[in-house]
Amino acid sequence: MNDMTPPLNLWFDPSKCFIGGHWVTPTGGQTLPIENPSTGETIAQLARGTAADVDAAVAAARGAYRGEWGRTPAFERGRLLMKMSRMVLERADELARLEAIDVGKPLKQAKADAITLARYLEFFGGAADKFMGETIPYQPGYTVYTLRQPHGVTGHILPWNYPMQMVGRSIGAALATGNAAVLKPAEEACLTALAFAAIADEAGLPKGAFNVVPGLGEEVGAALSSHPGVDHISFTGSVAVGMLVQAAAAKNVVPVTLELGGKSPQIVFADADLERALPFLVNGGMQNAGQTCSAASRILVQRQIADEVVARMSERYRALKVGPAMSDFDIGPLVSGRQQQIVEGFLGRIAPGRIAARTKLPADLPPGGHFVAPALVADIAPSHSLARDEIFGPVQVVLPFDSEEEAISIANGTDYGLIAGVWSADGGRQMRLARDIRAGQVFINNYGAGGGVELPFGGVGKSGHGREKGFESLYGFTVVKTVAAWHG
Ligand code: NAD
Repeated sequence: MNDMTPPLNLWFDPSKCFIGGHWVTPTGGQTLPIENPSTGETIAQLARGTAADVDAAVAAARGAYRGEWGRTPAFERGRLLMKMSRMVLERADELARLEAIDVGKPLKQAKADAITLARYLEFFGGAADKFMGETIPYQPGYTVYTLRQPHGVTGHILPWNYPMQMVGRSIGAALATGNAAVLKPAEEACLTALAFAAIADEAGLPKGAFNVVPGLGEEVGAALSSHPGVDHISFTGSVAVGMLVQAAAAKNVVPVTLELGGKSPQIVFADADLERALPFLVNGGMQNAGQTCSAASRILVQRQIADEVVARMSERYRALKVGPAMSDFDIGPLVSGRQQQIVEGFLGRIAPGRIAARTKLPADLPPGGHFVAPALVADIAPSHSLARDEIFGPVQVVLPFDSEEEAISIANGTDYGLIAGVWSADGGRQMRLARDIRAGQVFINNYGAGGGVELPFGGVGKSGHGREKGFESLYGFTVVKTVAAWHG
């Protein structure tokens, strides 16, 4: 252990699964190494769950749903979530430290994630007893109303890039609406999910209402997505795995929410307030070292200001500081050697001359860390793979355009449709672009990389379907039952 890998001080055992309110050794007795991506060191061992552990977790969730948890009134569920929210806030520094060591996220960004997790729990906790069905005017002699009921057992398969935020938005909404949840976190990012399980248990969440089975995607994830005892799946991750999850769930006719990747544009018109836009243009792409589904990986700029925007973004790139997560600079390492290779592979597809600006890596970085110097790529065709495919690293491309029509056509020219930003002083143009851009969220004269917990979020096209976050999320985690009573 050294400065970059301080002692973990864990209050739970990551080599165990959390099933039915108990910490249990995975049935195969195996573990996976947990790596600190800032140094490449192995820092602990993670439970390698199995299909049998998924069976046990689903059975525990079903038991909770039929038992104490299923009978817990909505306002009590809300109170429990609020209590968990306060406990997460109290431990925000510890959680941030764990996340920084586990996934390489700079400390301040990790702390912001912990605070967002608390905010999700607060938001969904507050919504739990305010979400209701309707009465429907029907024929004389009838009273008709709808019940909004939980699915039952929900499965959650999550990625590694915003582990705490994903838990908040997915598990928070599922529990608020009365489901019992089974979570499979990403193998690269399990520590805070398990820490949260310990917090939920301490808060008094009925046993079995929330279960965590860490492990590999092709083992635990595949078992969960094909499990006949699961009533709903919430998947956040890549398109390729999302397709597998949807196909597996289809065999049991189980509904699936898919929150997948993106290639999100920020579109800058010549009349934009550049002073305000510039930090959003760069941070929207560089936050979390670009490992953000809603990263602004494409900057579309009206041609007459393209050179100026590239020059001013380049200045900011040169000022970025890269370093180990515990140093808390702007950019940490990528999560794994695999992710580093993917990003470097993309950059290898272009001539170095096309890189308008490259942040300098400090000479004293730990040799085993997975660092990639941020790169701003200009002078590239919209059809190039760097401008179409999700890179998931600190790389942005600048694409010039002439007219509003061309901007829309380039913006809509990928398989994805997650979010977009529009920078212009023209109100009519703002409204036209908000209407015509294929995306689940459009930000006008700001850019939220997913935005606040209150804002419904999700994609179109290969970015997925269904919505999480905001009140809208509660619809996805419930089913409507219509009751038609004839009384004469
Ligand atoms: P991934 O698809 O590789 O993994 C996501 C999860 O799926 C992990 O828990 C993994 O173990 C599991 N998995 C892998 N194989 C599986 C299988 N055969 N069956 C079931 N589960 C399996 O994605 P990742 O690399 O962890 O995350 C990066 C991707 O996630 C990017 O594409 C990013 O855009 C996307 N993402 C989307 C959002 C969103 O809200 N739209 C948010 C964050 C990340």
